Amino acid sequence: PATGAPASGAPAGDPISAERLAAGRRAYDLDRQHVFHSWSAQEKITPMTILDAEGSWIWDGDGNRLLDFTSQLIFTNAGHRHPAIVRAIQEQAAELCTVAPQHANIARSEAARLITELLPEDIQHVFFTNGGADANEHAVRMARLHTGRHKVLSAYRSYHGGTQLAINLTGDPRRLPSDHAADGVVHFMPAYTYRSHFGAQDDHQEAERALQHLQDVVAYEGGDQIAAIILEPVPGTAGIYVPPPGYLKGVRRLCDEHGIVLIIDEVMVGFGRTGAWFAHQHAGIEPDIVTFAKGVTSGYVPMGGVAMDDAIYSSFAQTPYPGGLTYSGHPLAAAAAVATITAMREERMVEHARWLGEEVIGPRAARFLEDHPSVGDVRGLGAFWAVELVADRQTRAPLAPYGQTPEVMGRIVAEAKHRGVLPFTNMNRIHIAPPINISAEDALTGLDALDAALAVADDHVA
Ligand code: PLP
Repeated sequence: PATGAPASGAPAGDPISAERLAAGRRAYDLDRQHVFHSWSAQEKITPMTILDAEGSWIWDGDGNRLLDFTSQLIFTNAGHRHPAIVRAIQEQAAELCTVAPQHANIARSEAARLITELLPEDIQHVFFTNGGADANEHAVRMARLHTGRHKVLSAYRSYHGGTQLAINLTGDPRRLPSDHAADGVVHFMPAYTYRSHFGAQDDHQEAERALQHLQDVVAYEGGDQIAAIILEPVPGTAGIYVPPPGYLKGVRRLCDEHGIVLIIDEVMVGFGRTGAWFAHQHAGIEPDIVTFAKGVTSGYVPMGGVAMDDAIYSSFAQTPYPGGLTYSGHPLAAAAAVATITAMREERMVEHARWLGEEVIGPRAARFLEDHPSVGDVRGLGAFWAVELVADRQTRAPLAPYGQTPEVMGRIVAEAKHRGVLPFTNMNRIHIAPPINISAEDALTGLDALDAALAVADDHVA
């Protein structure tokens, strides 16, 4: 087995000093006075202070050490404070800290070369952005200009970012306060076997019926009016539901039939998360555009990007592309990307993530199904898993209605933290997404803690 990745075991470091704990308390107070948080009712939150982080571990404001099963927002793929990535950023800062995007520079060129090397052969060009939302905004702009069409199709149960078009592309209810259906985006039902919208009993039926549905949407919207279909190859925030075999291939075929650009949003799952460099590779498809962010730098410096194939590129070879960003390909981010990809290769992290999914996390998490009546489904791959909680296994009624997060989820997180692991929760699901180079031992320690914390949910089962 590919266990060559370094164990990101508990570092030997000193406990958090009294001075640092005091600084953390002051930081919390200042946060509450001056920092405006994403997606939050500002006066209803109690943000967790993080004072230190190394490998798969973080230290909270009270000095407690916790396993980070969130990879923060699923971006510290190479773990916290990886020495090679930290060093590369420091060296880049000392050498050429910043430069405007119109100039060539060594770090950015090298990052583009390494990224394109990981993608299909006819994807040779990268437009760098600052994160995932702006990558998707630019991907859609490119597809619209390339095709001369305006409509874009995206899935309900998806997340594509928080800027205006990206939140409209998003399917989950967070888009509703900002969505006036005037942006050219049309949503469709994705393939999601556990909660099939099509009455499917298995993956085969789900793939077939979800594709028929998409084909109908394309027909009713007018195939020759659709610029792009954008899809997460394994939808993340909306539930880590792996598409059934054949589904993405079918979407690819449909796009080819109608000249629609296929944008694959790899922002959350790219760079090893699922045990492949990019999650679309599991399905054996070639996208026209791949968007990425997060894991490309392990989140050490913000970076995203749009990687496009030769056909898209050729639309802007002689005609200017009308768009840009001050920090496109920022040298510090580019240096972090080069170091991240290099470390992932040298330490065989992607192979390790695949092994973790097949041999460690998958089998251990599957036991939750046996031990907890509140667990309705366990699914995922690599270092990317969801545990879906239900009030009733027969009806699959979620522990909370769609669009709401019940109070019990907060209690599960509190219990898990008490037992030394920080999980990510969304609505009625717990997401397990540690750094992809976590050691098997740490992964199992965290899963045992989560197992114990799930007892809280069992009390809510009918
Ligand atoms: N696309 C996907 C699939 C994501 O998961 C995210 C963020 O979670 C985004 C886009 C938005 O990325 P960012 O927050 O960097 O703008």
